[in-house]
Amino acid sequence: MNKEQYVAGKSIDQWIEDFPVIDDMVSTKEVVWINPNYDVSKSVSNSLGKHDVFDAEKRLNRFAPYLAKVFPETKAMNGMIESPIVPIRTMQGYLEKRYNREIPGELWMKCDSHLPIAGSIKARGGIYEVLQHAEDLALRHGKLTIHDNYELFDSESFRDFFSQYSIAVGSTGNLGLSIGIMSAKIGFNVTVHMSADAKQWKKDLLRSRGVNVIEYASDYSKAVEEGRKQAENDPNCYFIDDENSKHLFLGYAVAAKRLQKQLDENKIIVDQEHPLFVYLPCGVGGGPGGVAFGLKLLFQDHVHCFFAEPTHSPCMLLGLLTGLHDQVCVQDFGIDNKTEADGLAVGRPSRFVGKTVESLLSGVYTIEDDELYVLLQALSDTEKINLEPSALAGMLGPVKLTGSEQGKQFFETYGLEPKLKQGTHIVWATGGNMVPAEIMDEYYQRGLSVTQKNI
Ligand SMILES: *Cc1c(COP(=O)(O)O)cnc(C)c1O
Repeated sequence: MNKEQYVAGKSIDQWIEDFPVIDDMVSTKEVVWINPNYDVSKSVSNSLGKHDVFDAEKRLNRFAPYLAKVFPETKAMNGMIESPIVPIRTMQGYLEKRYNREIPGELWMKCDSHLPIAGSIKARGGIYEVLQHAEDLALRHGKLTIHDNYELFDSESFRDFFSQYSIAVGSTGNLGLSIGIMSAKIGFNVTVHMSADAKQWKKDLLRSRGVNVIEYASDYSKAVEEGRKQAENDPNCYFIDDENSKHLFLGYAVAAKRLQKQLDENKIIVDQEHPLFVYLPCGVGGGPGGVAFGLKLLFQDHVHCFFAEPTHSPCMLLGLLTGLHDQVCVQDFGIDNKTEADGLAVGRPSRFVGKTVESLLSGVYTIEDDELYVLLQALSDTEKINLEPSALAGMLGPVKLTGSEQGKQFFETYGLEPKLKQGTHIVWATGGNMVPAEIMDEYYQRGLSVTQKNI
């Protein structure tokens, strides 16, 4: 890479001088970055607030009877799309041993990998936005009031009505799955523009549900751009904008209140003396950003949110660090955006999310692909839980915080050291349940071979 190259008026050398962590980032080494702009009092005054999240939650409740009817796997939960939290003590022991350190506090996992309908965190934002749009159309055309039983949506007349409209989205895979499956069920014409990273089985599955899948040889940003173009030329086409959508964001944010209830049920305290650390895999930012935003509304300074990105796609970190947000991409710094973690293979971050989380996020760290596979195999062995590679990015969070200078300084700055023992870590497991068994086995084998290589 040419360090004389200019990015936003500065040479890369100058950027590195101003932000030394960039040096390791361009060499795709793992880094830990603590956010110097953390200030929760600023973030709550953002244009979105509690009432928006509450509104999103109520909308999902209105649709619950419909979802329970058309997706039988949601019936046991009365049409609520939610995942459990589970303690992962054996995995915690494994991490302590492998990385040779103590992880004080309890380690839990949020199993969004097992969310019904789409098997990933995208079942929150993606499904929410499709429902929001469907409700909006039905209300505007006098087919519905918000007091009706939404089982109405499961009718020929509704499906006929929605077949006049289309939905477009650009995706690396999981967002396409969630939006494709939900839109097709409602009756929309839906097109998913897939980046080159998207896995074949995800495209096959969508096609089998009647979704149009268009494939591109380039990355996520191109797929999104094409989706946007399709919608611009067609007034009946609604584009779900992963880079800017407030609806997606709010759909993700609803997770926080439901998590709070689960924490209560499991007698997990979150307050001044009992810190909560949450580790969220980050692609363009909407999923982890929405969840973090919701959590900060509820727990303010008592929750500490960290994003995790692949060493080859650290777009959110680059955007936050430089303050350039969507005006910078990893390729500008000679980083190739090539990662096996397809859900995180994003080179340019969302500006909307970056601006929203810039003062509420505690930090970001990066993780190597090989490590994702090692953790994938280990989680399968220790807890019998299978995740896709992207979803393991959060697992290194407690290790990074307890084992790095930056982490130690962070604990010190916020007086956390003496409270760690009574604290809780939650690793957000963002996907994996829909991965076909033979592909999961390949992932597992790759984890094994990396582990053996390193012995
Ligand atoms: C999409 C995705 C993420 C990240 O969500 P963004 O909104 O892109 O930041 C994390 N993990 C998995 C498995 C995903 O599919």
